[in-house]
Amino acid sequence: MAEPPQKPHAVLIPVPLQGHINPATRLAIKLATRGFTITYVNTEAVHHQSSRARRSASSIDHHIFADACASGLDIRYELISDGLPVSFDRTANPIQFLHSLLYVFSAHVEEFMRKLTRAASPPITCLIADTFFVWPSTIAKKFDIPYVSFWTEPAVVFTLYYHMDLLIKNGHFASCAENRKDTIAYIPGVPAIEPTDLMSYLQETNTTSVLHQIIFKAFEEARGADFVLCNTVQELEPETISAIQQEKPFYAVGPLIPPGFIPGISVQTTLQVESDCSQWLDTKPAGSVLYISFGSFANVSKRDLEEIAYGILDTKANFIWVIRPDIVSSKEHEPLPQRFLEESYGRGMCIPWCCQMEVLSHPSIGGFLTHCGWNSILESMWCEVPMLCFPLQTDQFTNRKLVVKDWKIGIDLGRIDEVSRKEVSKRVDSLMGGEEGNEAKKVMKEVTRALHGAVTADGSSQKNFDQFVADLMRRGSGNRTMK
Ligand code: UDP
Repeated sequence: MAEPPQKPHAVLIPVPLQGHINPATRLAIKLATRGFTITYVNTEAVHHQSSRARRSASSIDHHIFADACASGLDIRYELISDGLPVSFDRTANPIQFLHSLLYVFSAHVEEFMRKLTRAASPPITCLIADTFFVWPSTIAKKFDIPYVSFWTEPAVVFTLYYHMDLLIKNGHFASCAENRKDTIAYIPGVPAIEPTDLMSYLQETNTTSVLHQIIFKAFEEARGADFVLCNTVQELEPETISAIQQEKPFYAVGPLIPPGFIPGISVQTTLQVESDCSQWLDTKPAGSVLYISFGSFANVSKRDLEEIAYGILDTKANFIWVIRPDIVSSKEHEPLPQRFLEESYGRGMCIPWCCQMEVLSHPSIGGFLTHCGWNSILESMWCEVPMLCFPLQTDQFTNRKLVVKDWKIGIDLGRIDEVSRKEVSKRVDSLMGGEEGNEAKKVMKEVTRALHGAVTADGSSQKNFDQFVADLMRRGSGNRTMK
C-alpha cells in the first residue's frame, strides 16, 4: 500500500534585520496555516534582542511562535549564529556585520542544515531564504531541495537588480567615469525609470563596497531560485510582474502584514522596546496627527533632521516622531534642536520606537512622513494613510517613485542635504489638509481597497499563494526528500 504523503516541511531563514523579519514571520504563519511544517531560523543575536524588547519581557527562551503553536500550527523555532558574538554591537559596526553575513553566515547555515536533515521529521522539502542572502541556491542544491527566494521589496526593485547586467552594459551603472543620466527604457517590465529613482547602490560608480558584493552574489543566487515569493500585490505592479514571470516562477503574495491573516495569533517581532502612544493619540482629533519614522536602521544627517524639525515647528500639525537613539549616528545623543521639544509641547510626542501598525491604524493619524521602507509603505497603504516621502538609501528611492509618480498616494519632501524647513512646513500642510494631500487621500482609498481585496479568499495574493503551494508540491513530488 502507498505511504500517505508527508507534510511539506520548509526551512525559513530571514535576513536578521527588522524589515525582513516582520514579513518572514507572517509568511511562516501563512504557510503553517496551509499545513506546512515550518522550521523558522533566527540568529542568536536577533533572538536575544527581541527577547529583551518584549513588552512583557520575562524569559530569554521565548519562542516567538508560542501563540501560533498553541493554536495548532507546526512552527519550530531554531537559533544559529550569524558568525559574531551575541554581544557584538551590530548597529555601531555595520560593515563588520555585513562582512559576517557575506563570508561567515553560510557555514553556520550549512552546518545547521546538515544536522536538521539527518533528524527532521517530516523530511525537509524546501529552503525559503531571503533573496539578499549570498548562499541559498548553492546550499539548497547541496541538500537537493528547491530554493524559494523570499523578496521583501517591490517587484520593480527585484527586476532592476535582476537586470543589473543591462544597466552596466548601457552605462547607467558601474561606469568607469560617470553613469548615464538619461531615462532608462530597456528593462523588461519597467517602461521608463530615471537614474535618480534607482536603488542607491545602482546610482554609484564605485561598486567595491561590501553591500555591492552582497547584492552581486545574492542576485547570482537568485538566478538559481526555483520560485520567488514577493511581498507585493499584483494589482500594484502588473506589468513588472508579468515581465519577471517570463524569467522565473514569481508570485505576488503581499501584503504580508498582521491583520487579515489569522485573528488571535500574534507574533511579537519587534527588536526594540515599544512605547505605547495610544492614550495620547486618543486625545487628538481624527486625521490630525503626522506620524514620522525613518525605519529601523537608516541614518539621517543632523542638518536634515534639524531642517525637518524646524519645518514641523512652523506647522500646526500634531505629530508622533520615532527618534531612534542612533537616528543620526550611535555617537550623537541629542539629535533634535534644543528648543524643539519645548516649543512643540502638547502637540507632539517623540519616542524611541513604537508598534508602527498600531499607530498607523489609529484614527487620529492623517499622514506619514516616511523614509519609504517597503514595509512602511505597505503598512501605510493598508491603513489608508497618505505619505510624505524622504528616502535615504537602498530601495527607498525606487519605492518613492512608486508612491509619488506611479500611484500618486504621497508627495515628495525633498532631497537629502537640500531639504529646507520652509519646504517641509509647506509640504506637511499640503499633506495634512491641502489640495495635494486631499488628492492623495482619494487615490489612497482605492489602493487600500485593492490591498485588502488581494488577501481575501478569492483575491490575487491568495490565488498566487495557492498557485505557489501547488507548483511547489508538484515540483517536490519528483524530489528525493519529498517522498
Ligand atoms: N517599525 C516599528 N516601529 C517603529 C519603526 C518601525 O514597528 O517605531 C517597523 C515597521 O512597522 C516596519 C519595520 O519596522 O515593519 C521597518 O521596515 P521598513 O521596510 O519600513 O524599513 P527598514 O527599517 O527596513 O528601513
